[in-house]
Amino acid sequence: MHKITLIPGDGVGPEITEATKRVLEATGVSFEWDVQNAGEDVYKQEGTPLPDRVVESIKKNRVAIKGPITTPVGTGFRSVNVALRQTLDLYSCVRPCKTYKGARTRYDNIDLVIFRENTEDLYAGIEYQKDSDGAKAIIDTVRKMSDRVIREDSGISIKPISVYCTERIVRAAFEYAGKQNRRKVTAVHKANIMKYSDGLFLEVARDVAKIYPDIEFEDKIVDNMCMQLVQKPELYDVIVLPNLYGDIVSDLAAGLVGGLGLAPGANIGDNYAVFEATHGSAPKYKGLNKVNPIAMMLSGVMMLRHLGEHESAEKLDSAIASIIKEGKSVTYDMKPSPDDPTAATTSGVADAIINRI
Ligand code: NAD
Repeated sequence: MHKITLIPGDGVGPEITEATKRVLEATGVSFEWDVQNAGEDVYKQEGTPLPDRVVESIKKNRVAIKGPITTPVGTGFRSVNVALRQTLDLYSCVRPCKTYKGARTRYDNIDLVIFRENTEDLYAGIEYQKDSDGAKAIIDTVRKMSDRVIREDSGISIKPISVYCTERIVRAAFEYAGKQNRRKVTAVHKANIMKYSDGLFLEVARDVAKIYPDIEFEDKIVDNMCMQLVQKPELYDVIVLPNLYGDIVSDLAAGLVGGLGLAPGANIGDNYAVFEATHGSAPKYKGLNKVNPIAMMLSGVMMLRHLGEHESAEKLDSAIASIIKEGKSVTYDMKPSPDDPTAATTSGVADAIINRI
């Protein structure tokens, strides 16, 4: 029996979470779900989108699976997703992107794994609003310390990149590559422009690479990496990136293998792991029983592997693969046209997969 924290999330979160819970249970593994709500509705009821009880539950159970949670743009609360990653020190965001036969993609045989640093960079949350005391102090300090002038009417976000955090994410990427018999790790940066943040990331990545001489190492500048991934994705294997580039390149890679509906993920630290799809809460589809639950189900496959339930993980992965290959019981986003009347519902996909397990 595995005790798991289950966070349904908001937007389409509850629908895909229910579908995922059902297929996980159908593998025969027994779970005790500790359901913890977080996000927009909880913010309205409890005054915070991430009550302490949610974090306490994950600390107790060590493993969680969550639906997406909305982050209001500009105003409102800060991202619950970012807060969870930082509070629990879930420093590796692992996002496998592989092509499943039958998925409508422009490429065959893609098998990439993205390691996104999850705790620092521009996501550290060190931000100063335009005209705030903090923004004024920084503008003043920069003026005194250098010949650079930041305009008075600027908002400021700070991008810290440390040796400690870079070392552990690059190590995690190499460790994974070693265990999974992967041939190459590519570190991605913009060290030519941000010499002291991305430059440090590159320098540390090169040092860590020396510990793993059997695995090929290379680096790429992020803009070039994006072009290369579109032109020749088959050249890449494990890719390690700072937080912001990792966020953007993960979506690009999801697009290569058939879209966000097929892109799973895991946030992993030394003590805890939280599994979630790459995509967000897609609010316009909320309550319609319409979106693709497969990305979250594949995150569930990753969770089964993390729990040591390898046989059940393979069983669920194969059932999902066979549904995709057949192309019948899949949601609108996997059909040739988005308004295809034969598109399955979210719960219909779960039913079809359960029948194959
Ligand atoms: P999104 O991923 O929610 O949706 C973008 C578009 O992708 C959707 O409109 C839809 O067309 C498609 N899509 C996404 N998931 C799909 C699925 N399962 N099946 C079929 N199509 C799917 O991105 P967004 O609109 O930028 O973000 C919405 C909200 O989600 C924002 O508040 C954002 O902050 C939040 N978000 C949360 C997480 C998370 O919880 N980890 C991650 C990303 C975004």
